[in-house]
Amino acid sequence: MQLLKDRIRKDGKIKSGDVLKVDSFLNHQMDIHMFEEIGREFHKRFADSGVNKILTIEASGIGVACVVAQYFGVPVLFAKKNKTKNIAGDVYTAKVMSFTLGREYDIIVSKEFLGAGDRVLLIDDFLANGKAMEGLVELVKVSGATLVGAGVVIEKGFQPGGAALRGKGIRVESLAIVESMDEATGEITFREETA
Ligand code: 5GP
Repeated sequence: MQLLKDRIRKDGKIKSGDVLKVDSFLNHQMDIHMFEEIGREFHKRFADSGVNKILTIEASGIGVACVVAQYFGVPVLFAKKNKTKNIAGDVYTAKVMSFTLGREYDIIVSKEFLGAGDRVLLIDDFLANGKAMEGLVELVKVSGATLVGAGVVIEKGFQPGGAALRGKGIRVESLAIVESMDEATGEITFREETA
């Protein structure tokens, strides 16, 4: 998606540890016009998939997932990061190794809102090592729902998450795949689209 790539080049800030900061339009301040274009594009790509639910993970996936969901006319469910030791009640759980925090945590969703018969599209802002997405995939699996695919706004193609998910047969659609980024020069290159 050219609009997105141009914006990443213009406003993205490369930080140490292979972190790309896009706080001016995606992760802190949110550019709703850009989100609309993102929503339209994901809807185009997954239009024939019978999606009836969007699943994301708190916090940074929620905003974009809501706009995407408007195009599909379906609800958004977000996995909560469980902060207590006790996992109470009727929830599905999965473990996630955090890219940003460097430790493991549980994610949960209520059994009330996910189950057999659901056709789920996963949405997240970034795909790096793929651990957040793998946690969401696990939640879909244990719930008995059908996974339609995953929509990612920015994939860092030099990290292993995308290849790992695609290797499991999961359809991953990323709107911008960063091939390389150089902290010293600020240069960012993108993978050419094949489709
Ligand atoms: P993964 O589990 O794929 O390693 O990391 C995915 C999560 O980590 C995303 O939901 C995102 O919040 C965060 N993340 C990973 N890499 C980056 C990055 O370069 N920039 C930002 N802003 N967030 C990232």
